[in-house]
Amino acid sequence: MITIEQYVGKWSENEDWTEVRQAYAAQLLIQVNKLLEAAKKAGIELKNNPNTDSLISGTQYGGFRPQSCPIGAAGSSHKQGQAVDIFDPQNKLDGWINDAILTQYGLYREHPDATIRWCHLSTRAPKSGRRTFLP
Ligand SMILES: [Zn+2]
Repeated sequence: MITIEQYVGKWSENEDWTEVRQAYAAQLLIQVNKLLEAAKKAGIELKNNPNTDSLISGTQYGGFRPQSCPIGAAGSSHKQGQAVDIFDPQNKLDGWINDAILTQYGLYREHPDATIRWCHLSTRAPKSGRRTFLP
């Protein structure tokens, strides 16, 4: 499961980590952790990423991103505390998730074809409103 400390990483003292974004992140993690719990129960093996020592993907930008982060647009969901990249080296989680599961947990994800070795989950709906969308 993912904690808020793991999610914010080294930016907990950053001015961009506002109360509003903290609230977004807390809600995101409640929903994501429920989905991860269901995945585990379904037999999906979840492994910690050695780079982050958590289920968060990447080296430092898989969770919260400060506004100055070069990855993603200014209003991107990671920069609002509304998205997280889950470490999914063999895309087993992405293979298990479908739109019905996303609907059940109130989440949206980037299409697995666009997220090889990770799974991007968000509480924020894309403009299309699709549960699985191309970024
Ligand atoms: Zn992402």
